[in-house]
Amino acid sequence: VTTENLSTYLKAKGIRPSLQRINIYNYLRHTKMHPTVEDIYKALSPDMPTLSKTTIYNTLHLFQEKGIVNVVKIDDHEARYDWDTRFHGHFKCTECGHLSDFYFDEDSIQLQAIQMHQIVESHMYFKGTCNTCLTQ
Ligand SMILES: [Zn+2]
Ligand SMILES: [Zn+2]
Repeated sequence: VTTENLSTYLKAKGIRPSLQRINIYNYLRHTKMHPTVEDIYKALSPDMPTLSKTTIYNTLHLFQEKGIVNVVKIDDHEARYDWDTRFHGHFKCTECGHLSDFYFDEDSIQLQAIQMHQIVESHMYFKGTCNTCLTQ
């Protein structure tokens, strides 16, 4: 994705595409790690000395409001950000801390007892030991 395309994309979502916003979104788009504000700051600040953690936080909040970023709160003490807004699950390895995505057939989930409720938010979080840690 080029910067020009990202700029068009953000505009289409009602977001004024400042350079900082483009860079933050671009970084998210190109990582699978579900970064925290701290991770994004560490990655971008060397090239963007005027960038602050507050700006990153506010930008992510705006992205969330506009529906282009989801927050992953698998642990209470940290918020991680995910550009992939398709419904998918997250697995966190309690040994190495790695967070992986997993996908499933949403239609195959049988909701018992709450099928008449209107669901506005859903998360699927699993924790355990990842394959890499298990084979070490
Ligand atoms: Zn692991
Ligand atoms: Zn994810």
